[in-house]
Amino acid sequence: MTDHRVAPANLFEQALQRLDSAAAVADVDPEAVQRLRHPKQVLQVSIPVRMDNGTLRVFQGFRVQHDDTRGPTKGGIRFHPNVTQAEVQALAFWMTFKCAVVGIPFGGGKGGVIVDPKALSKLEIERLSRGYIQRIAHSVGPDTDVPAPDVYTNAMVMGWMMDEFSRMQRQRVPGVITGKPLPLGGSLGRGDATARGAYVCVKHLERGRSWNPSQTRVAIQGFGNAGRHLARLLAADGYRIVAISDSKGGVYRSDGLDITTLIRQKEASLALGTVYPAGSVCDCPHCGAVDCHCKERSHGGVTPISNEALLELDVDVLIPAALENQITAQNARRIRAPVVLEVANGPTTPEADACLIAAGTTVVPDILANAGGVTVSYFEWAQNRCGITWSENEVHQRLEAIMGTAFDRVHATADRHQTDMRTAAYILALERLAAGITCCGTERDFARHA
Ligand code: GLU
Repeated sequence: MTDHRVAPANLFEQALQRLDSAAAVADVDPEAVQRLRHPKQVLQVSIPVRMDNGTLRVFQGFRVQHDDTRGPTKGGIRFHPNVTQAEVQALAFWMTFKCAVVGIPFGGGKGGVIVDPKALSKLEIERLSRGYIQRIAHSVGPDTDVPAPDVYTNAMVMGWMMDEFSRMQRQRVPGVITGKPLPLGGSLGRGDATARGAYVCVKHLERGRSWNPSQTRVAIQGFGNAGRHLARLLAADGYRIVAISDSKGGVYRSDGLDITTLIRQKEASLALGTVYPAGSVCDCPHCGAVDCHCKERSHGGVTPISNEALLELDVDVLIPAALENQITAQNARRIRAPVVLEVANGPTTPEADACLIAAGTTVVPDILANAGGVTVSYFEWAQNRCGITWSENEVHQRLEAIMGTAFDRVHATADRHQTDMRTAAYILALERLAAGITCCGTERDFARHA
């Protein structure tokens, strides 16, 4: 996937531009906006790890707590070679607004380690995971900051981290982290929660726009946890998914791809002992080669497509579900999809936003579209703290209710302010955050009571 990222320091600045756009419309105390411009705490740590060959490597990691007005800070931990402090700050900021949009009692946080985890063995990843949580243990906990999975981390990693944290506390503390394996206190329905939340958004769009799924063409960039589950849910409804990609490239078929086979192929490549699938959607099921043009494949109508070209396809719904800054000032004018559903965090830059709005594109913003993950994390945390378990059905119903209400509220806010859905989502979140900040005391509030 092309790295369209801007200079690292810009990513947080870019995130703040969304706050400014919303603050210009929302009637909130300026002190609240001032407070939200600064993360509460930025922690940088070094993690020494003994590698399998006996050598030592020291990894750099971050944990940012952006704002905890509405509750303990909440947000995932990513393992990725391009992690930067500015990126983690932006991601933590987005979590603050995401939790406020769906109305769950959390603030925003995020963590990251600069590492290419695919180059590490399973045991090395375990040592890194345990080392990272040791370094940040003094500032995480069920009532302070609650991590979860993000890019290239998963339930297994969360299990190791919870186990390590619990050893340090000399008691089991399942509520310190969410997205855990089921036997360690994970919740049913957490695995595909991000996709299910996005799916609720699609169903609302479907009703509003009278879509016929079999005639609705969808392109999905990214085939990780969220992209893969969303493809499955949409294909089961009869949606025509014409393009799918992962970090190695993508595949296109105008009549729709065989999603079940692609998922099976990707998951089969998760050999025993490996943490990440070695295969790609572009591996030819006939000869195994990447980007293959062999007869069997082209007879089936499947052609290779790059990540960049996928974004510009003539489709009805475009779903970026990989990394940030994919739709930029460079390619925004070439985006043809009338609806963009942001399942990744931050896939669209503010400059690109302006182009998309001018073109009349509806963008369902990340802080709404991908909020299903953190919403079920909230359910997991609540179950852990109460010592109860909910059935998968109960989790699905509660998730649907929260996502549906949030979608309707954002839509209504957009109508009321005659603005786009992203600005509307930020206005809604900002009003909720500002209400909390005001209750803690602001100059305006004190003056009124004086
Ligand atoms: N990493 C996910 C996100 O960006 C989930 C966070 C969580 O569950 O706390 O929303």
